[in-house]
Amino acid sequence: MRLFIAIPLAGDIIASVRTMQQYWLTHGMQGHPTPPENLHLTLAFIGEYPDPAAVTEAIATVEFAPLTLTLDGVGSFRDTFWLGLIKTEELTACVRRIRRTLAVNNIPYDNKRFKPHITLMRKASLSTRPEKILAHPPTGTMTADKILLMRSDRGKNGMIYTPVGEIAAVNRL
Ligand code: NAP
Repeated sequence: MRLFIAIPLAGDIIASVRTMQQYWLTHGMQGHPTPPENLHLTLAFIGEYPDPAAVTEAIATVEFAPLTLTLDGVGSFRDTFWLGLIKTEELTACVRRIRRTLAVNNIPYDNKRFKPHITLMRKASLSTRPEKILAHPPTGTMTADKILLMRSDRGKNGMIYTPVGEIAAVNRL
């Protein structure tokens, strides 16, 4: 199965993100918006791996305090548009610990440099100038107190993400 480790978006930040998607779709962008239940920040992409229980057991050893996620501008890569997040030291350290734990446990993952982002729109095209539509990124912040192991499947109407493991933040670190 296809697995990745992510923080699901929660709280008011979802409304900010949805407003941005609606704005884009009504001001010259066409594409496939990420549905609200799929909005997330990926910390590590594992890909095909048969044993989610082994991954959950491994990452259960990673301790992290609640993480503050703060929106930080808009970006694009080919036909995908996303919102960036501030790459705080706490977030980076947490990702480093998760990836190190995967490596120690011989669980494969993509070791690309961590660039925190929330994908908002795929297969997008613009019928307006990019600077016009991307000029007003939303602000927003949330506190993440859990990290999920997610299974990713191609559904009839888009991707389906299913949590198959979870680790919770500890309040005293
Ligand atoms: P996904 O490819 O399973 O990705 C889940 C999450 O992992 C996303 O946050 C994605 O980042 C990230 N990710 C994917 N590959 C990565 C990599 N090599 N390194 C680092 N991060 C990676 O699900 P998706 O993002 O919703 O789907 C994207 C496309 O992949 C879709 O067009 C889908 O058809 C295709 N795809 C899906 C499957 C499947 O069975 N799930 C198999 C093959 C291809 P981003 O948000 O930045 O993309």
